[in-house]
Amino acid sequence: MFVSSRLNLARWFTLSMGSILVVFASVLYTREARDRLHVFDQALYSTGQVVASGAEEIVYGDIRQIDLENAPLLGSDSLRLDTDILWARWYTPNKQLLQFMGDIPPHTLDQDLGFQTLMVSEAEQLDRLRQLTVPVYREGRLLGYLQLAASLDPVEHPLQELRLFLVLGVPITLIVIAGAGWILGGMAMQPIRLSYQRLQQFTADASHELRTPLAAIVSNAQVALMEPVSLEEQTACLKIISEVSESMGDLVERLLFLARYQGDVPSQVFQTLDICHLLASIGADYASQASGLGVQFEADLPSAPCHLQAEPDLLRQAVVNLLDNAFRYTSAGGTIRLSCRGQGSWLSIQVHDSGIGIAAEDLPHIFERFYRVNKVRSRHSGGYGLGLAIVRQIIDLHHGYVTVSSIPMKGTQFEIRLPLNQAMAS
Ligand code: ADP
Repeated sequence: MFVSSRLNLARWFTLSMGSILVVFASVLYTREARDRLHVFDQALYSTGQVVASGAEEIVYGDIRQIDLENAPLLGSDSLRLDTDILWARWYTPNKQLLQFMGDIPPHTLDQDLGFQTLMVSEAEQLDRLRQLTVPVYREGRLLGYLQLAASLDPVEHPLQELRLFLVLGVPITLIVIAGAGWILGGMAMQPIRLSYQRLQQFTADASHELRTPLAAIVSNAQVALMEPVSLEEQTACLKIISEVSESMGDLVERLLFLARYQGDVPSQVFQTLDICHLLASIGADYASQASGLGVQFEADLPSAPCHLQAEPDLLRQAVVNLLDNAFRYTSAGGTIRLSCRGQGSWLSIQVHDSGIGIAAEDLPHIFERFYRVNKVRSRHSGGYGLGLAIVRQIIDLHHGYVTVSSIPMKGTQFEIRLPLNQAMAS
């Protein structure tokens, strides 16, 4: 799937870039050919003007005669012209041939006026010529028609080189573009591939997690249905089914939470809230729990209100997850502290415990979904390895970050840092 998408990306990239390249090359070639022909035509026209300026009209009474003796190329008394003119022809106003230089021309002018491109074969080779036929006037009277022709070689040769350059250059560039498209396609697919792999992993982990409680439900239901089975045994099985179902419900809830808050949340859900008040109310819930567990719980919170933009339920969930873990991994006699303080433009919320701690090699992974340090122990204590992933997702949504430091057998400290006075809509 990824290879074919990458191929498609590369193909479309090559097609679009290739089309642009081909259009660009065609425009370049057409402009170059037009400009060179224009310059060539101007030179041919200037030569025509020089030739025509040498033509004179001699009047004997009623008889008018054209004298071309001083006309360059045509007249014998004329100056030599340093040009590549192949032929020069003079036709009378009646379009009858009067004088010529070069190939023997037709006796009557049968060509249109203006510029023409002709193909002539010379020594079994086709040659392209440019011919100019213009009427020549003197004092408003038509003296005759001048026809000049020159080889188009000076235009053709550089164009041939340009054609060769484009014919070789365009395919080579297309190959380079295709290679670049393939590499860029790979780079574009990389994040999609990663998120696809993550999704696959997530689905596999979720299914795996659901399989164990499901198996427990099925086996207990089968035992309860077996005959003969006492009422006590049946009750015990149903109790297990109920507990396992509850824990499955909790897992599904967490999975739904992670799926629902993937990416960004609308800015309207954020509101200005007094975080100290929120933390105090969470702390009060845990204080009573702590005394029952023989754990010392401290809430070190500022008395003054501290406002920031946040979603109260999500933020509560994040702190509760950290405190739940602290209580889960701290045995009786230990200490748990919830504290909060401002640090410049940040607000720092810390949950510190003196529990079992986390080994250095596990620290980089504990925020990953379904990561548990001790799988047997975690499952036993009801953990699925999703609590910290949820904390990180919530804090990400608030444009903050969460860090951890821990010393095994000494304790762990989680710190949530949230931006103060920041527009959450950003
Ligand atoms: P779980 O629901 O299994 O606790 P979490 O995502 O909350 O999953 O935590 C991931 C792992 O990080 C846990 O399996 C646990 O080993 C470790 N952990 C989290 N918090 C603490 C803590 N306060 N003290 C020791 N270990 C912790």
